Amino acid sequence: MINNLLEEIGSAKTIGITGHVRPDGDCVGAVLGLYSYLSNAYKDADIRIFLEEPAEMFSFLKGYDKIDSTFAYPGQFDVFFSLDSGDLERIEKSQKLFLGAKKSICIDHHISNQGFGDVSHVEPQASSTCEILTHMFEDEYMDAEVAKALYTGIAHDTGIFRYSCTGAKTFEALGKLVQYDFDGSKITDETFLQKTYVQNQILGRTLLESILFMDGRCIAGSIDRKAMEFYGVNSRDFEGIVNQLQVTKGVEVAIFMHETGTLEHKVSLRSNGKVDVSEVASYFGGGGHVRAAGCTMNGTFHDVLNNLSLHIERQLMEQDRMEQK
Ligand code: AMP
Ligand code: MN
Ligand code: MN
Repeated sequence: MINNLLEEIGSAKTIGITGHVRPDGDCVGAVLGLYSYLSNAYKDADIRIFLEEPAEMFSFLKGYDKIDSTFAYPGQFDVFFSLDSGDLERIEKSQKLFLGAKKSICIDHHISNQGFGDVSHVEPQASSTCEILTHMFEDEYMDAEVAKALYTGIAHDTGIFRYSCTGAKTFEALGKLVQYDFDGSKITDETFLQKTYVQNQILGRTLLESILFMDGRCIAGSIDRKAMEFYGVNSRDFEGIVNQLQVTKGVEVAIFMHETGTLEHKVSLRSNGKVDVSEVASYFGGGGHVRAAGCTMNGTFHDVLNNLSLHIERQLMEQDRMEQK
């Protein structure tokens, strides 16, 4: 675990920062927040960001235009950070830079994270990586740009401060951030709530075609390649669909999947508390949190659904048995 972030970095002259594939709000916020913070703390250091291209709506954050999505860097970093990634595989194209660095540091909050890198700081009870960073950062090097990025990340991973991962430490972190001058509700409106017309169309279509099963305790929706091509959408446009499935009354687990290749699906799982979906996702090679997890699975939509259902049903039955006792 890290006690003092700046001591951990020492006198590094070259610092690299990365996050997981298909970067979400927490990932982008953490990467750009750390970038801004370290730019203030290490005026002379060469600080680079390596990340898959994030959604354009995050372009208001400082450092967005510095993101390198080519992952090409000939040298060795003194320090290299992996943020918001539960395992080494999920930083994909940055793996080499991370492993090749003089010191590699992992900061994350996934319960499935077993720790990787020379220094690993994992807090599974934290709402977000941005919450962890907020507590690590010293006031001296904070500014509105850092605060904006961290606020964005916390807002995204907590569903605007609502999900059960939102705790006292989350609000403490937010208390620290809102002292800086920025418009928090503009950030949540424009990066979380606002949807494009096609995003809403695809949401509507998924809900319309969703399947309710297991006596109404499980709901599943999917988007195939044909629909993706028809609407001209990609994986970034599906953010929030699984959460809408999840709020269906009576549902314990919501499943959303989209086709990523021939007989290959990216699966998102959400639980309302009875089922540990991180356990389900981990079984299929993915991971995440108790109430939000994901994995990639092979087969047809129905194959994938059947395989997931077995695990979900087993957990539900166990829960039912415990509750009857
Ligand atoms: P998603 O459903 O993609 O929003 O992901 C929900 C949570 O599970 C996030 O915290 C992800 O970081 C995590 N997650 C999603 N997919 C994977 C995967 N293939 N491997 C490990 N963790 C994942
Ligand atoms: Mn994330
Ligand atoms: Mn996160």
